[in-house]
Amino acid sequence: MRYILFICLGLFSLTSNAQTPKSNQTSTSNKPKLVVGIMVDQMRWDYINQFKPYFTSQQGFLRFVNEGASCNNNLIPYIPSVTAPGHASVYTGSTPAIHGVTGNQWFDNILQKTVYCVEDPTVISVGIEGSAAGKMSPKNLWTSTIGDEMKLASNFKSKVYGISIKDRGAILPAGHSANGAFWYDSKTGKFISSTYYGKNLPTWVTEYNGQHRVDSLYTKGWNLSLAKSVYEANCDEDINAYESTPLGAEQKGFPYSLSQFIGKDYGKIASTPYGNNLVLEMAEMALVNEQLGKDDITDLLAISFSSPDYIGHSFGPNSWETMDGYIKLDIQLAQLFASLDKQVGKNNYTVFLTADHAVQHIPAFAKKHHLPGGLISEPAIKKELNELLVKNSLDPKMISDIGEYYIHFNHDLMDSLHVSQDKLVQLVSNSLEKNPGILQVVETRKAATASLPQSLRERIVNGYSSQRSGDLFIVTKPGYMDGYATGTTHGTLYNNDAHIPLLWYGNGIKKGQINSVNYMTDIAPTISTLLGIQMPSGSIGNPILEVLH
Ligand SMILES: [Zn+2]
Repeated sequence: MRYILFICLGLFSLTSNAQTPKSNQTSTSNKPKLVVGIMVDQMRWDYINQFKPYFTSQQGFLRFVNEGASCNNNLIPYIPSVTAPGHASVYTGSTPAIHGVTGNQWFDNILQKTVYCVEDPTVISVGIEGSAAGKMSPKNLWTSTIGDEMKLASNFKSKVYGISIKDRGAILPAGHSANGAFWYDSKTGKFISSTYYGKNLPTWVTEYNGQHRVDSLYTKGWNLSLAKSVYEANCDEDINAYESTPLGAEQKGFPYSLSQFIGKDYGKIASTPYGNNLVLEMAEMALVNEQLGKDDITDLLAISFSSPDYIGHSFGPNSWETMDGYIKLDIQLAQLFASLDKQVGKNNYTVFLTADHAVQHIPAFAKKHHLPGGLISEPAIKKELNELLVKNSLDPKMISDIGEYYIHFNHDLMDSLHVSQDKLVQLVSNSLEKNPGILQVVETRKAATASLPQSLRERIVNGYSSQRSGDLFIVTKPGYMDGYATGTTHGTLYNNDAHIPLLWYGNGIKKGQINSVNYMTDIAPTISTLLGIQMPSGSIGNPILEVLH
């Protein structure tokens, strides 16, 4: 019955298209021919308002803001707020507790070893010989994605592609049944893939790699897009001792020369706005060469811009580099919109833009302005707990791993030595909670009853997997993080890390500002509702009805 209905709808839209001149296709009753998902790695929601007066194009961020819908209180409902869980949660409508991607890497309690989120030893690299960089697939993701559901609803005729600088940024959004996922290899400066998707790169990817765009982008250097006075008025100082120097210790401020990296270091482009150009150009090549959005079966193009994350980690959210990165991303988005209008046609596609996580202020910047915050150190915690166990005549191997704010116990060893969970929990918690940066240590299996505000303890519950999470979760005080002497990071359950943008534009989208709270897990159910297809298998979100016609 559903299939017949699907055919009828398909015929109807074909007929109505035949009767309507292409330029007049303003109807919103037809389904979009293409869904474009844009992840901006490490984008804080407040950047939109902060940088809005300086966006030089009306057709980038402002096309979303003025002609589409903006969800202003879109939150991450789980921990940790890092890249892989962010990409997985948006495209599955679920959280690490269900989709299993509990971190960029995790300590697996069954395997008793650390696993990288998209590692897959059963596949080999495509587009680069003998490298481990392509031994990747979505096999560690436990649920279907929106792309998988589009495939199921179309008898696998929907075309689904993922493109990013980061492997996890391309693979997790593209899902299990994708046609292709392509990510950047920093050794060769080329986009690669794995045999999970096919034996060879598509011709257009090989052609694009042949241009070796990274070299021509390097020759341009990184110069400010706007007058110096704009950055002086809106940002911290250009040069600060608490910023990192990813483009060389001798280069501490604008302008940045990049030509010295030609033929020597193809990883550096990720820490400049030009990383986005590579992803954008690959996306444009995919649109044309894979004929995305050219028929009535909806396709999915999942793009993830990783460079804002590299830039943000090094320079922080208040830097000239971050502001200039977003001024340039605005132009890059306008270029993408122009390509979509040309290739697919205005009103034939739907775009959403969101982030995998936001970011905290650099602790030393916060301190300079008398704001609370600071560093906690995982190596110091490891040392402290090792000494604590030895002092209490306990085997330090009972703690098998510490990482991503989790402490993992070795239960087999605890059982054989007759040490109870309660005893170890109490010992470790009492010790760590004396640390000035630590608010509380939560026993993860009992997180639902932890003495924390409900919305925060739910984030721990939503992040918890018995196989891939620790026994204890360290809740830092707001503004505290496991970071470095320079730069900043993200990962905590607070809204500095968890409040992210959500912008919509195109077919089926109602213009407006939505201020009620929603979650990143609502995106996939909203797309499902828009397309009239099933939600991903582990989805826990709700469709955001305010953005749909
Ligand atoms: Zn990051």
